[in-house]
Amino acid sequence: MARILITSGPTREPLDPVRFLTNASTGRMGAALAAAALERGHAVDFVTGPAAVFPPKGVHKVAVTTALEMLGACEKLYPLCDAVIGAAAVSDFRPRSPLAHKKPQGGGAWAIELIPNPDILEALGRLKRHQVHAGFALETLGLSEAIQRARDKLSRKNLDWIVLNSAQAIGAEEGIFLLIPRQGPEISLGKISKEKLAGTLLDRIFPKKP
Ligand code: C5P
Repeated sequence: MARILITSGPTREPLDPVRFLTNASTGRMGAALAAAALERGHAVDFVTGPAAVFPPKGVHKVAVTTALEMLGACEKLYPLCDAVIGAAAVSDFRPRSPLAHKKPQGGGAWAIELIPNPDILEALGRLKRHQVHAGFALETLGLSEAIQRARDKLSRKNLDWIVLNSAQAIGAEEGIFLLIPRQGPEISLGKISKEKLAGTLLDRIFPKKP
């Protein structure tokens, strides 16, 4: 059986010791992927930001906070893995200079400079040997433009599969999903639960032997 690295949840990027930048990811998709992988007998390295949904028992969980920490943890685990699935909603930006002490009230506006975070899947894509890589793309455009953007992401991040989902999927139990392989036509999955999507994706990455 395989060893699968799954990233999950949001990341948090500190502004000062008590405030941070984050997003609405709950970690539900990552947890569903971990459950589907365990059910199929795989081992799971689960690198997660501060998520609301817990992963199933049986995963090797590595808790991180920031995107840089997530990247560091993934780079360490990656060489031993056979597949990586990026389900984390990584913050694309972080404050350039987080304050060492809590910013006091008053003093007018607070201008914060944001700098780009590394793309974790793209970084792992550069290390790829035998591994299968899958990621997600959330687009709010019309379908054909969304597919084009997702395919661009697939090649930029050196993925084998990308799951295109609609914006309503964030934090929700189900979504409308389109599975896009590196080669060949898209596979429309319609409106299904994240659990069902997780099983379908796992069965595509590691097809069941007849
Ligand atoms: O480019 P976009 O953020 O839409 O790509 C989404 C995919 O890339 C997801 O699979 C997400 O986990 C991954 N990602 C990443 N590192 C980032 C941003 C996104 O691994 N900094």
